[in-house]
Amino acid sequence: MDRFDIAVIGTGPAGISAAITAKIRNKNVLLLGSRELSAKISKAHRIDNYTGLPAVSGAELAERLRAHLDNVGVEITDKQVGAVYTMGDYFALQCGEEMLEATAVIVATGIVQAKPLDGEDRLLGRGVSYCATCDARLYKGKAVAVLGYSADSAEEAEFLSEIVDSVLYIPMNDVFPQERPNIRVVREKPLAILGDRSVTALKTDGGEYEIACVFVLRDAVMPDKLISGVETDGPHIKVDLQMRTNIRGLFACGDVAGKPYQYIKAAGQGNIAALSAIGYLNEIKKEV
Ligand SMILES: Cc1cc2nc3c(=O)[nH]c(=O)nc-3n(C[C@H](O)[C@H](O)[C@H](O)COP(=O)(O)OP(=O)(O)OC[C@H]3O[C@@H](n4cnc5c(N)ncnc54)[C@H](O)[C@@H]3O)c2cc1C
Repeated sequence: MDRFDIAVIGTGPAGISAAITAKIRNKNVLLLGSRELSAKISKAHRIDNYTGLPAVSGAELAERLRAHLDNVGVEITDKQVGAVYTMGDYFALQCGEEMLEATAVIVATGIVQAKPLDGEDRLLGRGVSYCATCDARLYKGKAVAVLGYSADSAEEAEFLSEIVDSVLYIPMNDVFPQERPNIRVVREKPLAILGDRSVTALKTDGGEYEIACVFVLRDAVMPDKLISGVETDGPHIKVDLQMRTNIRGLFACGDVAGKPYQYIKAAGQGNIAALSAIGYLNEIKKEV
């Protein structure tokens, strides 16, 4: 398996900026995230404070960022990272059933806005999952629920319906799965995930549903769930001014690295994170 110099997680302004800088500095870069880029870019109606682009629309900023990636030759690998493992002198990134490797990692995953549901943290890994591709097989022949927050949740529910017995789909946005005999869509508010040792039911404002797993499909998960051992402060990864985290070789930038939540700050921190990651690659080269 090829090992990348730097893996960048997230296709918002922070991740894109980091990937561009790393590529310009001739590093072998893996940029992971949605090819549609961050929804926080495309959803912005008008942006007045992005230096050099006055009154730019979100859609236009997205076009410019895409063109910049093309210009320097960075391709987006359209994959969601389920977990990052620290392996000593490199990192392993789990993307569905695939494992990818990189010497340094830059986390640019944005911020998780939603509060975890009652029971979500307690039952994580015991019937609460954030990744349909990773865990679908564990629930073969069983009833599961999907809380569809992210744009691709509906597609994930369709995929799940091919493996599990039935899918209870709760849309948290305007995207719905295709009609299938074993997908039931209910527009109810999820209240709690129930179970003692493992998940047994999902409670909503409309009732209680017996299920074996709840797939909570958000655009991003809390950073300490993505990377075990990373030091956090609430929803943020703790970084120093060089965007270094407590884990050597792991850097964070943009919203996930703290407030203020701003495009230009995210892009600036992406640049710093990339330069710090390059410094780290040089350091470890000298050590061997
Ligand atoms: C409607 C709106 C308007 C705004 N207007 C302004 C404005 O006018 N000016 C301003 O400065 N700021 C504005 N902001 C704030 C700005 O959007 C954020 O500060 C900025 O997008 C942060 O960039 P980021 O790269 O850190 O994270 P994000 O833009 O959130 O990008 C993170 C990306 O990483 C992806 N990701 C997360 N986890 C994973 C994973 N495990 N694997 C792969 N990909 C993953 C996410 O899906 C997302 O695409 C606005 C925000 C919103 C919502």
